[in-house]
Amino acid sequence: MNTKIWMSSPHMGGTEEQFVKEAFTTNWIAPLGPNVNGFEQDLELFLGNGSHAAALSSGTAGLHLGLVLLGVKAGDEVICQTMTFSATANPINYMGATPVFVDSESDTWNMSPALLEKAIEDRMAIGKKPKAIIPVHLYGMPAKMDSIMAIAHHYQIPVLEDAAEAIGSSIHGQKCGTFGEIGVLSFNGNKIITTSGGGALVSQSSRIVKDARFLATQARDEAPHYQHSQIGYNYRMSNLCAGVGRGQMEVLAKRIEQRRSIYNQYHSHLAGKKGISFHEELPGYFSNRWLTTILIDPKEAGFTREDLRLALEKDNIESRPLWKPMHMQPVFDGCPFYGDGTSEHLFEIGLCLPSGSNLSNDDMKRIFAVIDSLVK
Ligand SMILES: *Cc1c(COP(=O)(O)O)cnc(C)c1O
Repeated sequence: MNTKIWMSSPHMGGTEEQFVKEAFTTNWIAPLGPNVNGFEQDLELFLGNGSHAAALSSGTAGLHLGLVLLGVKAGDEVICQTMTFSATANPINYMGATPVFVDSESDTWNMSPALLEKAIEDRMAIGKKPKAIIPVHLYGMPAKMDSIMAIAHHYQIPVLEDAAEAIGSSIHGQKCGTFGEIGVLSFNGNKIITTSGGGALVSQSSRIVKDARFLATQARDEAPHYQHSQIGYNYRMSNLCAGVGRGQMEVLAKRIEQRRSIYNQYHSHLAGKKGISFHEELPGYFSNRWLTTILIDPKEAGFTREDLRLALEKDNIESRPLWKPMHMQPVFDGCPFYGDGTSEHLFEIGLCLPSGSNLSNDDMKRIFAVIDSLVK
């Protein structure tokens, strides 16, 4: 059997172990310490735009805290991009609130500004003004933030930006995660850089990030004993994981370059092939190309995305359909949905290809050989 080719696997830069070793040497084996502070500073510097960052145990924790900090309460409604990973929507339910799903547009595959506005108007007409809007930058491709932020400002609804897949992506130089009131990053094992598991909540407001750190460490009031006047969470990143993060930050720019190069290799290999299209950047848009994704029109191409997925699987190569929209998931049955069929269509014909920055030339040759066996 050929060795397994993963879609996206961890890729260490080399200095991670030094930071972790230092944590051992100094006995900072806790959810605080110099690596946590250092990692936060690295993130703030990288994001720019006056960003503040709180390192957390996961991106999901960041989204949960984001909703808490935006004042979402049980019975509220929160607008959420339907085409995404379940971790975007689950925290809405943790709050006892209801997700209102909004479809994608076909340029970026992210939240449609037109359908967002329709959803807001419609919910307001029944006295249910949404408490927050959660757009996502899928596969590293920035959502149409200019239009989304304009709508959010018009209706005075805060934006919680799920940038879990999009560290380093930008629109006209402004980094994803810095558009909304709050942004969330993920450092899960399959993301472009990883801390094995981890995330961050970022904001231009130092008060919001200070409050996030407070809530993430059990909401302890200042007192010699344990004193609490709010419900807290245990969501802080450990100093060991943050050590991995500091090492990964040293290679982030390189990882983005490598992922973009993988995308370019697929793009030139498949240029002009019938029925195959890519997730293209709009002018001024920059994607970190976390995953290379293609759309396969079966009528034009002569095969389906499932034909290609199975052919790759047979050669021990991992690929996966695009995110199955949340409004199609049994667990979110009955939630309001504003759509026009775009995300359902993308899910039906889209495939995520192996995209790791550690793919070798031989790996790419193997992948191309399988693709070429189907492509005309
Ligand atoms: C990975 C991911 C998350 C969750 O991040 P974790 O760190 O795994 O909790 C949230 N949203 C999207 C879109 C993701 O891809």
